[in-house]
Amino acid sequence: MLLTIRILIQPVGYVSPDEINALTEKLKEKFPFNTKIFPVIWPLQPPYSSYNIKRMQYDAKKINGFIAKKRADFLGKKGSYVLGIAGFDGYYNGLRFVFGLASVDLKVATIYTPRLKEQKEKYYERLGKEGTHELGHLFGLPHCENKHCVMSFSNSIAEVDNKGEDFCPECNAKLARIFH
Ligand SMILES: [Zn+2]
Ligand SMILES: [Zn+2]
Repeated sequence: MLLTIRILIQPVGYVSPDEINALTEKLKEKFPFNTKIFPVIWPLQPPYSSYNIKRMQYDAKKINGFIAKKRADFLGKKGSYVLGIAGFDGYYNGLRFVFGLASVDLKVATIYTPRLKEQKEKYYERLGKEGTHELGHLFGLPHCENKHCVMSFSNSIAEVDNKGEDFCPECNAKLARIFH
């Protein structure tokens, strides 16, 4: 029997249905195993406790914890993977900002949209890359040295634009071994 991995797409804050649809489409057939993607249309409101008023940014780790708790309320313990899409800026630890953060233990990752919207025509492509990248972490992949691979680390919009939208052959083979 072939395993199917369920992925919930959960908007947080202001995210439009077009953005959710674009992300859902981009994630189809990206992985070397079966996935079923469930887009949730209604956004969650981020809790005040995840907002850092001095930085005017949200704590990405707290956002993942919040989403994990909501999933437990909604689906019980046996939840699927969740990819959050947040319409506000996020940070983590010493980083000035993050495009996304994966919490492997929670099976939750979130991508942050405002910084991906620079020169808007590439926005949906970037959503797909960062969504694929964070799910790659959730499924157990580390960063990849191959600059064309979607798992290469990006800390600027130029780096996001320069990498490809797919896994390199090595990362693809690793993923295929994880869920075979
Ligand atoms: Zn990463
Ligand atoms: Zn790779």
